Amino acid sequence: LKHYHFKNEPDTDFVLPANRAWAEAIRDKWKNIGSSGGFDAHIVVAGETLQREGAKTVIDKSQYHDKKIVGSYAQATAEDMKLAIATAKADPDGWRELSLTRRQEILMNVAHALSCARGDLIGIAAAEVGKVFTETDVEVSEAIDFLNFYPYSVSKIEALNGIETIAKGVGLVISPWNFPIAIPAGGIAASLAAGNTVILKPATDSILCAYMMCQCFWQAGVSKNTLQFIPSNGSDVGEFMIPSKDINFTIFTGGEKTAYDIINTRPDIALSAETGGKNATIVTALADREQALKNVLVSAFHNSGQKCSASSLLVLEKEVYEDASFKQALKEAVESLQTGSVWNFENRIGTLSNLPSGDLEKALSYLDEGEEWLVKPSLADRENPYMLTPSVRWGTKENDFCHMNELFGPVLSVMYADNLEHAIEIVNETGYGLTSGIETLDKREQELWKEKIIAGNLYINRGTTGAIVTRQPFGGMRKSAIGSGKKAGGFNYVSQFMHISCKDIHI
Ligand code: GLU
Repeated sequence: LKHYHFKNEPDTDFVLPANRAWAEAIRDKWKNIGSSGGFDAHIVVAGETLQREGAKTVIDKSQYHDKKIVGSYAQATAEDMKLAIATAKADPDGWRELSLTRRQEILMNVAHALSCARGDLIGIAAAEVGKVFTETDVEVSEAIDFLNFYPYSVSKIEALNGIETIAKGVGLVISPWNFPIAIPAGGIAASLAAGNTVILKPATDSILCAYMMCQCFWQAGVSKNTLQFIPSNGSDVGEFMIPSKDINFTIFTGGEKTAYDIINTRPDIALSAETGGKNATIVTALADREQALKNVLVSAFHNSGQKCSASSLLVLEKEVYEDASFKQALKEAVESLQTGSVWNFENRIGTLSNLPSGDLEKALSYLDEGEEWLVKPSLADRENPYMLTPSVRWGTKENDFCHMNELFGPVLSVMYADNLEHAIEIVNETGYGLTSGIETLDKREQELWKEKIIAGNLYINRGTTGAIVTRQPFGGMRKSAIGSGKKAGGFNYVSQFMHISCKDIHI
């Protein structure tokens, strides 16, 4: 694989008739998967797939009131976790001994397996977490990119003069439900590329998606000793896995508090944590306003706003804020976003993965002084509490609840700024620093914003979601990146999971 050059995987073009027919076939299979036996996930430990009784049933979020079953999974015990750690440490199949070229070959086979499973992955994500087909499609492309890219990035590090890399040992990947395929696949790929064995603990809301994704690894030649699968709740993992001295690093995506808990329990190991964001898009008077609206809609509402990278603040410079036609266009555009069952392809916004709780529930239930609902939240189907429609709060002020708190749902808050400097201050006040967007055609404004804004991923005249491997390595600053702060999909991401020794340095 000496002459390999990385290329990004293309997404599916759903406009092509053949692909539309393919999407319909996926729908026919997965919409009623329960009636053909369902899809079950199992614990995979020490080379074995354990078929346990007492499994929990997963219900299709889009068909919630019909209680349609998707499949089931069983939860791992403390004994399973201990055995998984001991196995990962022992590495009975010798993953750590494989040459980088061999690891790269196997991981590229996984990429191929993921590509073959694209349709089923789209189907299971629709059923289990309520993700629309087009959104999962880009996620599968990203997962494939991670598999192709990380071994390649290790080879780039090793190509440096005198550098030798040594695996750290055992990695624990704790993945979220909002990107149920790409994020766990990325963590596993990076761990394995660097020569480690790995244990996946997926989010409880997306265990079936994670299991199907792992099947691609096992089919392609990663053994069930090398990648083990531990469906569990967070507190058991916190109790029985994180404290184990045989875990050598953790890759975590989720809430800030859990990231700090991991650091406090294991200050001795590397933690790569991607936490939340309170991201904003600024629109100045010099923006193409039509284009701005289009980008903001995607950034705020795709995947029902359940992305760390989503823009949940829209900061408008005075002239735009006071432009009544812009306000009206925003209202109409949001109202026209069709929300509902993921099995109906006309719906742009699918179902929530969880019922609103915490900060999202609070934001849906009240307004701060001076705020109004430009678009009120409602349910697209009164019998399905997961079908929350996108909403817009207008006139959010500095330090209001929705200025400072990540909601992780389809709620956009619009704020006023006197000018660009003021807008930048408003954005930087949140304390987060993941993604940020600006809409302006003026080069000087773009330069000023780039210099002053505090965020890991900056996007000009483009939405704030959907970072592409190598082109936009993904990761934030401040409250958005706890731990190492290395960017996923970037060249040095893998360096956190290996020791790098310089044996032959000539000055
Ligand atoms: N990497 C994703 C994006 O750029 C976001 C990941 C996340 O929400 O955790 O949209």
